[in-house]
Amino acid sequence: MENLRLRIIIRGAVQGVGFRPFVYRLANDLKVVGFVQNSSYGVIVEVEGKKNILDQFLLRIEKEKPATSFIQSLEHSFLDLVSFKDFQIKESISGEVEAFILPDIATCPECRKEILDSKNRRHQYPFTNCTLCGPRYSIIQNLPYDRANTTMKSFKMCSDCQKEYDNPKDRRFHAQPNACAKCGPSIELWNKDSKVLEKNSSALLKTAEMIKNGDVIAIKGLGGFHLVVDAKNEGAVQKLRDRKKRGLKPFAVMFSCLEEIESDCEVSALERRSLLSSEAPIVLLRKKQSLKIADNVAPQNPYLGVMLAYTPLHILLLDILKGPIVATSANLSEETICVDNREALNSLKYIADGFLVHNRDIAHHVDDSMVRVMAGREMVLRRARGFAPLPIFVKNVEDSILAVGPHLKNTIAFSNKENVFVSQHIGDLETPKALETFEKTIKDLTKIYDVDVKLIVCDEHPNYLSTQFVEYSNLPKEKIQHHYAHACSCMAENEINDEVLGVCFDGTGYGQDQTIWGGEFLKVDKDGFKRFAYFSPFPLPGGEAAVREPRRSAAGLLYHVLGEKAFEEKDVEFLNAFKPEELVNLNSMLRKKINSPLTSSVGRIFDAVSSFLGLCHYVDFEGQAAMSVEFSISDEKSNCVYSFGIKKNESLIVEELFVRDILRDIKNGVKSNVIARKFHDTLVDIIIAIAIRSGLKKIVLTGGCFQNKYLLERSIYRLKEEGFLPYWHQRIPTNDGGISLGQIAAASKKNVLQYDFKQKEK
Ligand code: ZN
Ligand code: ZN
Ligand code: FE
Repeated sequence: MENLRLRIIIRGAVQGVGFRPFVYRLANDLKVVGFVQNSSYGVIVEVEGKKNILDQFLLRIEKEKPATSFIQSLEHSFLDLVSFKDFQIKESISGEVEAFILPDIATCPECRKEILDSKNRRHQYPFTNCTLCGPRYSIIQNLPYDRANTTMKSFKMCSDCQKEYDNPKDRRFHAQPNACAKCGPSIELWNKDSKVLEKNSSALLKTAEMIKNGDVIAIKGLGGFHLVVDAKNEGAVQKLRDRKKRGLKPFAVMFSCLEEIESDCEVSALERRSLLSSEAPIVLLRKKQSLKIADNVAPQNPYLGVMLAYTPLHILLLDILKGPIVATSANLSEETICVDNREALNSLKYIADGFLVHNRDIAHHVDDSMVRVMAGREMVLRRARGFAPLPIFVKNVEDSILAVGPHLKNTIAFSNKENVFVSQHIGDLETPKALETFEKTIKDLTKIYDVDVKLIVCDEHPNYLSTQFVEYSNLPKEKIQHHYAHACSCMAENEINDEVLGVCFDGTGYGQDQTIWGGEFLKVDKDGFKRFAYFSPFPLPGGEAAVREPRRSAAGLLYHVLGEKAFEEKDVEFLNAFKPEELVNLNSMLRKKINSPLTSSVGRIFDAVSSFLGLCHYVDFEGQAAMSVEFSISDEKSNCVYSFGIKKNESLIVEELFVRDILRDIKNGVKSNVIARKFHDTLVDIIIAIAIRSGLKKIVLTGGCFQNKYLLERSIYRLKEEGFLPYWHQRIPTNDGGISLGQIAAASKKNVLQYDFKQKEK
């Protein structure tokens, strides 16, 4: 097993409670070297050792920490060795103590106990919190973090709450959102006409009753509204799907305790850690056979997105229900989550049968975060509640840069001194509402942190709304190519500065030759990038329509490989997904090159393969077709891969000869799970082949396609086997949620636009 460095940054009640001596003893016990240090970030711990020992170190920190300490936030990543000699308690980094906006923190065990205790004055009070837990970012309007700067300012503490707040010995000493039933926010259950049905505890009881009866309830939570139904009631789940017009996209499920989750899903030690953490994200877990959740919650999917109840409101509701609920962000498409009572009522009245609302305003929307444990590490796929807007620990960034991110899965980021702040997930910038939230997030965060923006960075795509937003600004601007940003994002969080091969497998990104990129091998160094290799571009008949119809990617790829005769092939089964007249149209579109943009996108190749295999000809959510191919992989190992060619041009071009092989296999009746595996293994072999030709050792795996567990893990395994050093994402999404950080990292490199890579090669 390899040696690595583990960095852990911990925030919470961890300073002045014997935390550093505890870490020191743990390090000695496990015989790892490194240091522990107090800083304005929180406690920084770095240790080096074998991966399995580092995992133990991580898990034992949370299990064995001093009784008086409490972890509000813990982020960790595995990095290259710096070869420490021993373990030290380092001097604290002195200097200005920086005030950061803390993320929202899941309800602590003490508060949980109180709300379930019939003798406690906070029994059944859904806004219970203390100094250690509760809302933060979602209620903060300004810094410093005082009640007057939060949406709690309109509630005046009663004398009991004030006493707690003023008493240094109390758990609620200076707990800004401190409240009780007498003085704090309260809940109401409304019907569709905003008529109040019930209040307070009766509202919870009635909500539970309606959920039990199969109703859809919109519930205002911490950072926005969820749509909630009984997760075991197939009819209710279907009703939610029909009303939300959401075909097969999986819903997340909220449970009340770990034991319930473990009876439905496989949970590893690292997954358990993520579930129980203060961030309490959605964790993608493998379903068990014994799963008791309705099939249509995550149809045709071996995984389930699972989280634990993280606010008193959710804990109380699940306590009455005695069973899990579907809890999905309340929005119409991929736009931003609803935060306002009236707005929710207006936009959700055709979806929800009831509205459980409260009168504590949400200052910033925050969706549930999502993580998946892959290759033995946590990978954050959506960075929001629990994580945002804490700064990311990266080196070598310039001060005062604002990055406006991509178009889909938008996040924004900015640098302030040596810190990079990445916003919470904003969503797809397709609707006026999403755009409004995007602008608000930029305005709010730069104002709170008092950033004097000196440079704005955006994507090169001229039609992105985020790019257009930048056009209106008078500030200096920089445009960063989409996949270069992906690579820089992954390099930044892995602290790599030397030259790497960036393997960017993605859906779509605007390419510098005006084609759509997405199957790119970029040589990236400290100054810029060069397109070293890419997949041979194939036409996408119908352009944008192809994103929703994988059959179009399949037709385009087939035409690309077989030419004019493509559609005359008799027994190519996927062609039956088209009507005869559609095929005639398609053929002439492709022949005349009408509305058929060229793409090198691996995401679209996944789509094509999904359609070839008859898995998915249409999709109703991004990534659906690629997931269908990943999920159909068989367990049987085969050492066969398909053929591909590499052509030498100005760059290397990968030719998709495997299309013929796949069609031949389909004709010969080879099972699609075997084909799916061979296809994945072929992609990995292509990565190895290009890596060898690049002459580089460090290989960076990035882009949305690496959310695919098999592809990522197989690539890492094979690259290591061949002597390469693979890197992948951990704290920052590998999908477009990571673009904003990459834009900042890329713009921080000097003279990014003037740099001429070719000259350097001479
Ligand atoms: Zn608490
Ligand atoms: Zn009170
Ligand atoms: Fe992308």
